[in-house]
Amino acid sequence: MKRSEIKALLAAGKVGETVLVKAWVRTKRGSKNVNFIALNDGSCLQNLQVVADLKSISEEILQRIHTGACIAVEGKLAESQGSGQSVELLANKIDVLGEAHPDEYPLQPKKHSMEFLREIAHLRFRTNTFSAVNRIRHHLIFAVHDYFNSRGFLNIHTPIITGSDAEGAGETFKVTNFDLKNVPVKDGEVDFSEDFFGKETNLTVSGQLEGELAAMAMGKIYTFGPTFRAENSNTSRHLAEFWMIEPEVAFADLDENMDLSEDLLRTLLKSVLENCADDLEFLSKRREDEEKNKKQEDRSPMSLLEQLKFVAENEFKRVSYTEAIDILRNSKPNKKKKFNYLIEGWGADLQSEHERFLVEKHFKQPVILYDYPKDIKAFYMRLNEDGKTVRAMDVLFPGIGEIVGGSQREERLEELKGRMAEMNIPEEELWWYLDLRKFGTAPHAGFGLGFERLVQFATGMGNIRDVIPFPRTPKNAEF
Ligand code: ATP
Ligand code: MN
Repeated sequence: MKRSEIKALLAAGKVGETVLVKAWVRTKRGSKNVNFIALNDGSCLQNLQVVADLKSISEEILQRIHTGACIAVEGKLAESQGSGQSVELLANKIDVLGEAHPDEYPLQPKKHSMEFLREIAHLRFRTNTFSAVNRIRHHLIFAVHDYFNSRGFLNIHTPIITGSDAEGAGETFKVTNFDLKNVPVKDGEVDFSEDFFGKETNLTVSGQLEGELAAMAMGKIYTFGPTFRAENSNTSRHLAEFWMIEPEVAFADLDENMDLSEDLLRTLLKSVLENCADDLEFLSKRREDEEKNKKQEDRSPMSLLEQLKFVAENEFKRVSYTEAIDILRNSKPNKKKKFNYLIEGWGADLQSEHERFLVEKHFKQPVILYDYPKDIKAFYMRLNEDGKTVRAMDVLFPGIGEIVGGSQREERLEELKGRMAEMNIPEEELWWYLDLRKFGTAPHAGFGLGFERLVQFATGMGNIRDVIPFPRTPKNAEF
């Protein structure tokens, strides 16, 4: 008999039909003669209720079935007696594929903390929360590719191991096959010419520089790949390994870059609202429960659905960095409190609390800040006429602050060399990046969207570690 998935059965299963279902047991309850088994196979949030009557299923089999076991059930679909479900399954035959001993199985049907679930990340896919998050994550992956593909962008794979350390987006992880107990040394320094690649290499912090090379020949490209940052920031918004989406567009200026980021984000979140209703409803209730246990001032300003609509339905407010600093200097986050980090004045980088204040309290719209001081931004951003600011932009969201960082790139060779010299970036290392400005240069722009920040926003999860299956963070690379 052909196996059916629970999602399909609940959507279109016909009463009287005989089906085979293989899935994991969420709960088992019942009396001496009849057992009710809630089954889930990950295809959807809902469980399929199996009715196992002692008349057809032996006691010996039923005794082996506990939360966490995997079973194969053959049976007939019947109209559901319980509420909320279309059909239930009257079992004729059950095979126990894999038992889960109740004294040992860590995922019993009760509330577990997110911290505990991270310790059993090998099993947490079996919770409603993580299966819902991962279904939305999957939906977003496809929505991203669909967005770009349908607009004529080419997907480019950029290298994961790179030889340039110049991007300056954060600390890098070294890549080497040296025996670390016996590293070759020459003139008191590590001799990387003996290393696998004959030079110092690291895991990429961004695919942008290589993405620019592609854009300056193919027009519109995007990358969607893993990036690595050895930043020791133990926040709820930083991972050491995360996925980034980086479009790069030839002939685009900063305004067009802002338009693209706004349209992309609004389209993606609309798509989640339209296609992931069940999972969203579940995650939304879950977040409401979580919020109740928080202190008033730590609560999220919006419910999950509100925050999705906040982005999908509002235009993004565009404000220059300089205007934003003026606003922040003249504001207090609320009557009693000051910002934890005071605004140091023009030239300082904004903290997440400042970004969130602008979005949540001041403008009540998603915000795009642009034209940042050059000293707090990367070398490749296009210098403005004022000589002090660069054509950078950050997109700011409620709850998480920065979700996108991007810029119009410096396409003029002499200006780019000047910025590299100011920032002590050796030209030899990026000769190929400079060549792009020597041969057929043109204006171009792009940005980086942190995929996990997007999933975090779309699912309302409080911690970024809970939106990637196996998070890598300082002192943690289990599984
Ligand atoms: P932040 O100031 O939040 O650390 P950043 O300025 O270092 O961000 P960029 O280098 O501009 O970020 O990277 C582009 C995007 O990648 C960011 O807007 C964010 O969405 C995401 N991002 C950056 N660092 C991380 C990280 N450690 N974990 C997850 N996502 C990240
Ligand atoms: Mn950072």
